[in-house]
Amino acid sequence: MPRPITATIHIAAMRHNLARARACAPDAKVWGVLKANGYGHGLERAMRGLAAADGLALVEPDNAVRLRELGWTGPLLLLEGPFDAADIAMMAQYDVNGAIHCETQLALLEAARPARPLNVHLKMNTGMNRLGFMPQAFAAAHARLRALPHVADITLMTHFANADDTAHPRLSIHEQVRRFRDGAQGLPGPVSLANSAGIFQMPQLKDELSSHWVRPGIMLYGGTPGGQTAEALGLKPAMTLASEIIAIQDIGAGDCVGYGSRFQADGPMRIGVVACGYADGYPRHAPEGTPVLVDGVRTRLVGRVSMDMLTVDLAGIPGSNVGSRVVLWGEGMPIDEVAEASGTIGYELMCALAQRVQVVEG
Ligand SMILES: *Cc1c(COP(=O)(O)O)cnc(C)c1O
Repeated sequence: MPRPITATIHIAAMRHNLARARACAPDAKVWGVLKANGYGHGLERAMRGLAAADGLALVEPDNAVRLRELGWTGPLLLLEGPFDAADIAMMAQYDVNGAIHCETQLALLEAARPARPLNVHLKMNTGMNRLGFMPQAFAAAHARLRALPHVADITLMTHFANADDTAHPRLSIHEQVRRFRDGAQGLPGPVSLANSAGIFQMPQLKDELSSHWVRPGIMLYGGTPGGQTAEALGLKPAMTLASEIIAIQDIGAGDCVGYGSRFQADGPMRIGVVACGYADGYPRHAPEGTPVLVDGVRTRLVGRVSMDMLTVDLAGIPGSNVGSRVVLWGEGMPIDEVAEASGTIGYELMCALAQRVQVVEG
């Protein structure tokens, strides 16, 4: 039999979460973001889960082509735009929209003669300082795009750094919106602003955040973008990573568990060995106490996570045995709790699901 670890992808949860995005942004069209293989859920599965989105957005040009081959006929958007001239030709061939965020891309586009006009997203840097033209350079970049016969629609976009914390002392969402409206003043075209965190601010910041398009990612997969728990935000997990106990060790005071003997028992203990390790995508740096569900009961990780196994405390779960079901994250065990205990975010854990884990749907 295959190793007992599986990731179950809940297509219905993605549909539910997409409906949550629409409820928060009822007037906006939705780009369902499925970069990084649908945040680890699989490109094709994410495409089906997000079939009701108005378009799909990603950063990998080859996966844009794959989505066409898989039968996606709606809009597609490359959030980092083209990386070279071949990408521009591909965008024309497969009808893919792309961000234009810097001088190099603008020059590439000016030199290109694509087979048909392209729709582009002109990106403004409103303080994130990763991608985009500065607000004062935005109108000039727009004029250069407008002058190109092979550019059709131009959408105006920016990206928020701290949408989960509206009072962020360094860069608030209000300040980013102010810079965006300032830099985009007088320019025609649809506007695309909010990621998941921004979408959850839209009911409170209706006027400020009103836009033609939104770009949810993490919320579609049931992870929180920060601020509140996924459950409080009405989201359902789209991935459950589960395995089984494959061995039990009864140890006594002074006995240690695993590499480095990091954990030492101070009394008799029952230790469950779970078929899940860092080579499955579970974080190696998860500390003692990271929550794990065994037979539906919350318990804690003890000892270091190794490549193929991790170890848990079975105190309080007397019925547990070899074969007991263990949920690492997903239904019954929020991925965000595991992430927080491990010093990371749910995004990283879901994206890092390893190739060797068997994936099923349910
Ligand atoms: C990844 C990404 C998103 C989605 O962000 P989430 O926090 O996952 O909702 C939106 N916009 C851009 C430009 C992105 O790169």
